[in-house]
Amino acid sequence: MIKVENLNKKFGDLEVLKEINLDIYPGEVVVIIGSSGSGKSTLLRCLNQLETPTGGKIFLEDKQVNTEETNINKVRQELGMVFQQFNLFPHMTVLENIMVSPVSVAGRPKDEVKQKALELLEMVGMSEKKDQYPLMLSGGQQQRVAIARALAMNPKVMLFDEPTSALDPELIGEVLQVMKKLAKDGMTMVVVTHEMGFAREVADRVCFMDNGYIVMDDSPEKVFSDQHDNDRLHSFLRNIG
Ligand code: ADP
Ligand code: MG
Repeated sequence: MIKVENLNKKFGDLEVLKEINLDIYPGEVVVIIGSSGSGKSTLLRCLNQLETPTGGKIFLEDKQVNTEETNINKVRQELGMVFQQFNLFPHMTVLENIMVSPVSVAGRPKDEVKQKALELLEMVGMSEKKDQYPLMLSGGQQQRVAIARALAMNPKVMLFDEPTSALDPELIGEVLQVMKKLAKDGMTMVVVTHEMGFAREVADRVCFMDNGYIVMDDSPEKVFSDQHDNDRLHSFLRNIG
């Protein structure tokens, strides 16, 4: 589904991503872990073209997407993104938040979009709040709406950048539950998270980023075990655990 070849990203003299290689197959859930500043967000942002890579290639279904000719808006539609801060539009209701992009960016018929939006709200357990404004909702509820909003564009891949890091502990579970459901339904997902329980349970692969490199890319069983001798990873897991 996604292939990354020798991806490099510099901000001025600061090299944030170094020779990143990554393959993500359809239906896979890949969790990315690593300490703050290791380049996790920059990697996700390069994937959906919020940042322009300095070098290397990104392919989506065998088509290179980081070229001069790429239609950036099309790529962003195919890669849904969910952020730590939910970024809902405060002046729109829940339903309007979900419908706005499919109608005004993708130009899909309003009736069809509404039907789909209602189904998605059902899926994330937010049907009853469809006419509320975001500020009336808890953080967990807002994040579930943000997930529905990303899904409304029919993305091929969902990217999550620390989706539960801004939430009170008691609200984390309801968001992870929605993400588990998505994974079970076969969505291809790339998830940056510090929720190691989620990674163990849901990930097909876990990538450990350190200082701009993916230094380990393996099964959760392997990554969370003693069967490797990566000291940086051991110490990261000890500190987070
Ligand atoms: P992570 O998500 O793993 O915490 P980031 O990808 O956000 O890491 O950041 C990696 C490094 O790149 C950090 O040193 C950060 O300060 C730097 N960085 C990120 N975005 C920018 C930017 N727009 N301009 C300059 N430096 C940046
Ligand atoms: Mg980050």
